[in-house]
Amino acid sequence: MPARSLLLVILFALLPGAVLAQSCAGNSTWALVLHGGYLDYEEEVTPAHRALLARLLEEGNRSLSSGASALDAVSAAIRVMEDSGLLDAGKGSIVNTEGFTETDASIMDGATGRSGAVAAMQQVRNPILAARVVMDKTKHVLLVGATGEQSLRKLGAEMVEPSNWYQEYVPAPKPVERKHGTVGAAALDRCGHLAAGTSTGGWPGKLPGRVGDSPIIGASTYADTRVALSATGVGEYFIKRAATRDIAMRVQYLGLPLKAAADHVVKTLIGGEDKAEGAVIALGADGEVVINSNGYGILWGAVGAGLPAASGTQEPPPLRATSQVDNISR
Ligand code: ASP
Repeated sequence: MPARSLLLVILFALLPGAVLAQSCAGNSTWALVLHGGYLDYEEEVTPAHRALLARLLEEGNRSLSSGASALDAVSAAIRVMEDSGLLDAGKGSIVNTEGFTETDASIMDGATGRSGAVAAMQQVRNPILAARVVMDKTKHVLLVGATGEQSLRKLGAEMVEPSNWYQEYVPAPKPVERKHGTVGAAALDRCGHLAAGTSTGGWPGKLPGRVGDSPIIGASTYADTRVALSATGVGEYFIKRAATRDIAMRVQYLGLPLKAAADHVVKTLIGGEDKAEGAVIALGADGEVVINSNGYGILWGAVGAGLPAASGTQEPPPLRATSQVDNISR
């Protein structure tokens, strides 16, 4: 055996964990679910939105099938949605009552519980990547505001200068009627690990300094070994209800099917008792995909092993990524 191959064999034998962490190729099931926010009207969705989703599903499917981690798939998809300017996140964020943007985002690794989040950011270029910096490079879960941004700058998060932000990133007033467009993702990788993330500019009419549910672990973003979730809607209610954590605990403690757990929290509690708008995407460790909205709908897309790319604005019938035999890991 050539020396180089021998070295690789030894490395594989010694470092299976490290190798797997970089490339998950163990299981034949994987899936990616995306959302582009709660909808009041179908008209909020343009061909550009649909094209963006289709592209992200194709790219996400390719990378997960090749062994990318769920965390990387979630970060990559949300980063592109933030940069698109088409949705209320990152570059496309709405402005607050004083006319400037403050962004929120979070990410969670279901396998380890590691989490990162940022809130009320004014200069961070990609809030989801900044959340990842908090998770990967600090002992904390959440960094906020101007002083949080100073720390993030030192930790290497990419910044946009405020003057450039207004010229490049908030080029024109956003139409007031476009209320939603928070973005989120949930992924299952070939190690069997789940991850979820959410990113937003928040609600039009929000006060400076207001923080919504999107950077709150357990409110908008949650992932464990059973389920990964990302929510959109009136964040105040998702915080009060600890909504995504509640759905996950209904699955864990009560043994409820994912759809029944999501229905209860999104429709019965938030939609029914609180009379507040909201929606959630959920992905189970078995590849089950649940899209749930208590109003008109949610812009969603899903793809996975045995699950051709699907997207829409209404709740779909049950979807599931299934195991798929391929040649990638052989
Ligand atoms: N949940 C977001 C917030 O309250 C807004 C949204 O999802 O549309 O900040």
